[in-house]
Amino acid sequence: MAALRTYWKKRDFGKTAEPRGKTGRKKGFGYVIQKHDATRLHYDLRLELDGVMLSWAVTRGPSLVPGEKRLAIHVEDHPIEYNKFEGTIPEDQYGGGTVMVWDRGTWTPEHDPHKGMQKGHLDFELHGEKLNGHWHLVRMRKRPGERQEPWLLIKATDEFAGKKSDPDILEEMPDSAASGRSMDEIATDKKRIWHSNKSAKEQSKAAKAGPTKSGPTKAARPRARAPRRKAPAKRSGKKAG
Ligand code: MN
Repeated sequence: MAALRTYWKKRDFGKTAEPRGKTGRKKGFGYVIQKHDATRLHYDLRLELDGVMLSWAVTRGPSLVPGEKRLAIHVEDHPIEYNKFEGTIPEDQYGGGTVMVWDRGTWTPEHDPHKGMQKGHLDFELHGEKLNGHWHLVRMRKRPGERQEPWLLIKATDEFAGKKSDPDILEEMPDSAASGRSMDEIATDKKRIWHSNKSAKEQSKAAKAGPTKSGPTKAARPRARAPRRKAPAKRSGKKAG
């Protein structure tokens, strides 16, 4: 199965610590949403099927309000190992920026998901730490010039649905489901993991020992109470992903 070929092609695993991963290692229905502060902040929804993670980049993130359709760009399949990835992709690499495991759990397709992918319509249930209940993913027609398929992520009406007047879950629960960290806390941790030939373990040791000549500078160390960014800052020079 060559489902990860595109994923592998886009990345230089000598430079990014994203997992290379393998296809078909597990048969299950894992679910994750990764908050990704790349060129623009977005939320990557991933649903496990046939040993890979089907992936959509949800530009504005999920909404609990059934009437709110959120654009979800179908992107390349990711390895299942990616579900645990939380950290920083170097700025000059594909998808450069900070990645957070925003939600995780399992999903249940309500119909045959293979037919659903062909038809361009998935009905499913999420069993996450933040998102639950029934959801729809609906493919839209690709417009001329569009490289990737646009889909819509829509909350179905059930007991987990929200009202327009409710607070936005993205603002209510902004932090990592895996580590409890904020985006800033993950971002400022990057020196421990990246830009070095040392293993993560060695770097972790070095970081605990305190700043050295090559270690984190004062500016790079985590701020105790970093102000949270409200809106995604548009920055140039980084690639999307
Ligand atoms: Mn992404």
